[in-house]
Amino acid sequence: MADKNDTIFGQIIRGEMPADKVYEDDDVLAFKDINPAAPVHILVIPKKYIVNLFDADEEDTELLGKLLQAARKVAIEQGLEDDGFRLVVNNGAGVGQTVHHIHLHILGGRSFAWPPG
Ligand code: 5GP
Repeated sequence: MADKNDTIFGQIIRGEMPADKVYEDDDVLAFKDINPAAPVHILVIPKKYIVNLFDADEEDTELLGKLLQAARKVAIEQGLEDDGFRLVVNNGAGVGQTVHHIHLHILGGRSFAWPPG
């Protein structure tokens, strides 16, 4: 793990950068994506600095579960229970990770193709 979280998301966690927050607890933060790829596009992040799943170890197991539970709550609050939602985690620059602080993308409100592009 890198020592200092100098990512955009680190700045949002520290309150140095504004974000349209939709959920927050001691460990997790969720906010609207600045460049939405769907009518509902929300990012769920741990407050702990983890770069991506390769950087998560055994001690992060509970925290990873909390991310999924937060995603569940947010998806319900956003009215996605009937039509469902897609959850995406880009792990590594090679598959499109641009912000190197782990995040779940909640995507909903439109149809989605499979397999993803
Ligand atoms: P990635 O490509 O790493 O999986 O996703 C990063 C996401 O963060 C992108 O969808 C991008 O639009 C979003 N993003 C980048 N900078 C900001 C920001 O400053 N604020 C918010 N709310 N989202 C951001």
